[in-house]
Amino acid sequence: MTQAVSPPSAIRTRFAPSPTGFLHLGGARTALFSWAYARHHHGKFILRIEDTDLERSTPEAVQAILDAMQWLDLRPDEGPFYQMRRMDRYREVIAAMLAAGTAYYCYSSPAEVEAMREKARAAGNKPRYDGTWRPEPGKTLPPIPPDRKPVVRFKSPQSGATGWNDLIKGPISFDNSELDDLVIARPDGTPTYNFCVVVDDWDMKITHVIRGDDHVNNTPRQIAILRALGATPPEYGHVPMILGPDGDKLSKRHGAVNVMQYERDGYLPEAMINYLARLGWSHGDEEIFSREQLVEWFDTRHLSKSPAQWDPKKLNWVNAHYIRAMDDTALAARVAPRIRALNGDPDAIDLAGVMALLKTRAETLNQLAEDAMLFCGPYQAASEGLQAQYLDASAIELLNEFARRAAALPDWGTAPLSALIKAMLDEHAIKMPKLAIPLRIAVTGRKHTPSIDAVLFLLGRATVLARLDALSGE
Ligand code: GLU
Repeated sequence: MTQAVSPPSAIRTRFAPSPTGFLHLGGARTALFSWAYARHHHGKFILRIEDTDLERSTPEAVQAILDAMQWLDLRPDEGPFYQMRRMDRYREVIAAMLAAGTAYYCYSSPAEVEAMREKARAAGNKPRYDGTWRPEPGKTLPPIPPDRKPVVRFKSPQSGATGWNDLIKGPISFDNSELDDLVIARPDGTPTYNFCVVVDDWDMKITHVIRGDDHVNNTPRQIAILRALGATPPEYGHVPMILGPDGDKLSKRHGAVNVMQYERDGYLPEAMINYLARLGWSHGDEEIFSREQLVEWFDTRHLSKSPAQWDPKKLNWVNAHYIRAMDDTALAARVAPRIRALNGDPDAIDLAGVMALLKTRAETLNQLAEDAMLFCGPYQAASEGLQAQYLDASAIELLNEFARRAAALPDWGTAPLSALIKAMLDEHAIKMPKLAIPLRIAVTGRKHTPSIDAVLFLLGRATVLARLDALSGE
């Protein structure tokens, strides 16, 4: 029987970061929503690097974005495309618009444009270019000033309105009289930001633009240019920003905003995806869902109109869930490099067994690595103070007995060790701490450890006996 496979659709989304820094949480969330929308519709997700701001874009930032996308496993179907490699195409479209009369050369100097703006301001109007070089039927343009390189302006519609039905915010409309004749090419011929976005969205056949709502003001300009080009504008959905726990815009002040810092701090990408998806999107009351479920359920109707709030405690809760749910061997593989970074030896022990013991109370991989150092780090004898307090003569006697009987156990396992401890407590009529604390201190150097029988088991018979032996030899 052949399996039913949904046909690919024409849905095409994109994530279009400007590589001026690391990938921040807001950007990662926008990328995730665009990715999930494309996946849900069996469409295509495109990655486009908007690197035309030469002063602020760096190759390191490009790499940081690519690394973060890879960590989150948000794989583009097409791209990365780089705007700096598309300059010829932008120039071609500018030339075509000049020829078609939808754009024009403007020879006003920056000082003149500033004077126009000032004049409008003084008259109580919105500061704007006054249209000096805008060609109109029957209008005579001023003589071209010698030696002046012109900018190219878009001949923006002056009446009516430009609007769209935002996928998240609903209907939005701007009066065209509000929109200036946008500069689309600078005097040196290089295209400007909004223009490149338009040409790219058009050429890349983007059907749905999901992006931060800091771009709402750009949208009517982009739509107007697309229409002038005879293109159908995509659908737009503008995602509200993320707020910090205190209600202010999320910033460094609230902790890490660099996605990769979460990798370094020991968060699982699966947990990060789950948490980010819930920041501004919901599927009923579901808090924990897999990538596959996200793709199956994702829609723009359940994207929230109001800003989401960053909640580090909830992120920890989600991460703890994913850690607990993860297979012990897989978890061990993720924690091993972090143990090495602490100068521990992850191969010194059955690390998967250690994970099984520790994972129920860890919130991050780093915490797991630190906890695992009990098994993977060098043995450090307890402080003299702890020894003096807990390892008196009667305790040493108990430990010696324990060592003799542990050496004789037919099977080294958590259950036989637990039974041995219990038997000794009964025989000596003592309570658990009387034996367990000296055992912990003697064998691990610490007063607090996870369940002692499991710890002894994982350390192994040879290690446990050697440490107990060293003690009685003193
Ligand atoms: N490059 C823009 C940014 O990083 C996004 C542009 C867009 O999505 O249209 O904010």
